Amino acid sequence: MLVAPKMLPNVVTLLYDTILENADELEELDRILGDGDHVVNLLRGLEVLKTKSGDLVAVDWPQAFQFIGMSLMSSVGGASGSLYGTLFLKMGGALKESELTTNRMADIFSQGVDAMKARGKSDVGEKTMLDVLVPVAQCLVQLSAEGVERRVLLATVSKVAIDGVEATREMVATKGRAAYLGSRTVGHVDAGAKSSQLMLCALTGFLAGDD
Ligand code: ADP
Ligand code: MG
Repeated sequence: MLVAPKMLPNVVTLLYDTILENADELEELDRILGDGDHVVNLLRGLEVLKTKSGDLVAVDWPQAFQFIGMSLMSSVGGASGSLYGTLFLKMGGALKESELTTNRMADIFSQGVDAMKARGKSDVGEKTMLDVLVPVAQCLVQLSAEGVERRVLLATVSKVAIDGVEATREMVATKGRAAYLGSRTVGHVDAGAKSSQLMLCALTGFLAGDD
């Protein structure tokens, strides 16, 4: 098992702190390429999850993912709220067993990211969070199928996420608010890609220390 749902409150707090620590940079990115509310949106959602920690520990993995999805959907707002909500709702629906293994995580995360693509009518190369999440999903599926050692898998996921953010710098945004700015978006990384990477790297760090 990766972590038990009872560890989720710690993960939520970690993600909240991670976004807060990087708030200035993220806010600036969304101010340049969007409307500047990305940090406020994420912190609102994570804050609600923090206050509902008691509900998270009382359920199994499929229910926990569904709960997180519904909560994010209704509290985050903005494009990122419906996209992250979709990710977790799909993961919860796709997970048929109460126990979470690395292979199952790779499979349901991949299905969740596919659902985000459908929801956002978007794909890699459009300067969004999908430029981090799609390669991470592909990497997870590949490495878990190969049965690579857990620490290697976590380190590789972090690297793929960081490379994904950096790749958005030279892209022209074609989805979301940034699309209105067209070629003027070149030279800046996408706020959603950056926040996804920061949260993923915080999570891999947490899991690496959770043997
Ligand atoms: P909003 O754009 O509604 O203000 P946020 O600021 O919270 O919402 O989130 C913006 C981020 O959402 C962007 O940086 C981008 O990564 C992501 N995003 C926006 N639209 C899409 C889309 N259609 N598909 C995938 N990701 C998107
Ligand atoms: Mg915004």
